[in-house]
Amino acid sequence: MNKKISILIPAYNEEDTIPIIYKRLKDVFKNINYEFEILFINDGSKDSSLNIMKNLRKKDKSVSYINLSRNYGKEIAMAAGFDYAMGDAVIIMDADLQDPPELIPKMISYWEEGYDDVYAKRRSRAGESWLKKKTSYYFYRILKKLSRVEIQEDTGDFRLLSRRAVEAIKKIKEQHRYTKGFFSWIGFKKKEILFDREPRAAGRTKWNYYKLIDLAIEGIISFSGAPLRVSTIIGFVMAMFSFLYMLYVIMKTLLFGDLVAGYPSLVSLILFISSIQFIILGVIGEYLGRVFNETKNRPLYFIEEYNDEKTMP
Ligand code: UDP
Ligand code: MG
Repeated sequence: MNKKISILIPAYNEEDTIPIIYKRLKDVFKNINYEFEILFINDGSKDSSLNIMKNLRKKDKSVSYINLSRNYGKEIAMAAGFDYAMGDAVIIMDADLQDPPELIPKMISYWEEGYDDVYAKRRSRAGESWLKKKTSYYFYRILKKLSRVEIQEDTGDFRLLSRRAVEAIKKIKEQHRYTKGFFSWIGFKKKEILFDREPRAAGRTKWNYYKLIDLAIEGIISFSGAPLRVSTIIGFVMAMFSFLYMLYVIMKTLLFGDLVAGYPSLVSLILFISSIQFIILGVIGEYLGRVFNETKNRPLYFIEEYNDEKTMP
């Protein structure tokens, strides 16, 4: 029997691109001897994405879909996909064809050589703004400095995972998910392939800078305690300076008497120190908030429907 490959595609309002990616995938499958499953995850789309998935499923039983109960975001959509994917290997790709399906045969051949995680690294990214490219460039470099796990630079979620890598990721039940970090964290044998990222085939990106900043903070906080460490260091350095300044003030008072001067320096010091305290409280709050969310132990997602079957939570 042929081995089975699951293609996992999270989709949020992708009615224009789903038919195209389906066709491109089918073309690729024609030339290779594997059984394929295309698993769409409808992440609460407000357009006709779900209907398109249903129609594809009617014509072609190698298509499956999960309909999430609302929009959860791509990270959770991927988690749902891992839970339902049945293949011996799982390939994650975006619905917008920024990840070329033509890379799939190469990924599979590395997997057959024994690699667990064959990831596609962007050599270039067309159709994305200068600012987005720059911010993402620096983000990966900063994250790499801060965190102890090796996170691959300029690599998206487009990759092939072996069954055991998928099972490993399924064990991670964290609510705050920075999936790209998980891929590194689980370890196993990794292989890189390079590609040129194309612009979106149609539709618009769901990203905005707010979401990007959110994911960036997630990446740093959930994979590094460095901000806490930096807060401690700032605290120590400030305490040292305050001590020196205190000595200076005491000496001055002893030598020259108290002249009730220094109001400006007093006010600026209070403002400065209290703002630093707020920043540090904020950092602690970020971590504490995550602890709070994780302890609630809620399920990651609910599924409304899996291949025409209504599901129960
Ligand atoms: N996506 C999703 N849920 C969301 C936002 C996006 O499942 O809430 C999917 C989207 O349909 C696409 C992939 O995640 O398949 C990447 O999204 P997008 O292309 O908008 O991001 P970009 O490539 O610009 O980073
Ligand atoms: Mg995209």
